[in-house]
Amino acid sequence: MRRRPVSVALVHHPVLDKRGDVVTTAVTNLDVHDIARTARTYELDRFYVVTPVVEQQRLVARLLQHWREGFGASYNPDRGEALRLVETVPTLEAARFHWQRSAGEEVQLLLTGAGLADGMPFPTARRLLRETPVMLVLGTGWGLAPELFTPGMKVLAAVAGGGDYNHLSVRAAAAIILDRLLGNREE
Ligand code: SAM
Repeated sequence: MRRRPVSVALVHHPVLDKRGDVVTTAVTNLDVHDIARTARTYELDRFYVVTPVVEQQRLVARLLQHWREGFGASYNPDRGEALRLVETVPTLEAARFHWQRSAGEEVQLLLTGAGLADGMPFPTARRLLRETPVMLVLGTGWGLAPELFTPGMKVLAAVAGGGDYNHLSVRAAAAIILDRLLGNREE
């Protein structure tokens, strides 16, 4: 059965810093490129870059212009195709609103984090993706701020390698999660 639409959001505020304070992180060029390429590979519908900082929004706009219409578009059209998924929004709520309007129905946010061992197991999440449009919410810095984990918000089980070291980059985590949720399953 074909799955429902899926999107991904990369949140730069509110996230935590090393001290556990709520901060706003800078958009990283590499995050935008890599997660866009992974999103395109797994046929996601949208990739929301969430930042309230206008200058950061402008930075993303310049990056997108270069690869969608500028020199980058002719130099590497495949990259432009991936970056066409990108929308820049000031808040996660704005991403949800935009995605809900685009999907035409209620959407489900699925928060992620390295410390979420008791989150929704991947097989359950794969079933959820067959039932409803889902937005996978990724953080930056030291992870999504606690204020996003409101009652009833769905949380995905952390990717775990089995040992006690768990410091994946958001790019790596995005790729692993999307493959586990949407990749071909030989089983
Ligand atoms: N310690 C932070 C945490 O618990 O999320 C790691 C932050 S990491 C640099 C940024 C983002 O990558 C996280 O907010 C989460 O979206 C994703 N991420 C990193 N490791 C993950 C894991 N093991 N499982 C699920 N998501 C992970």
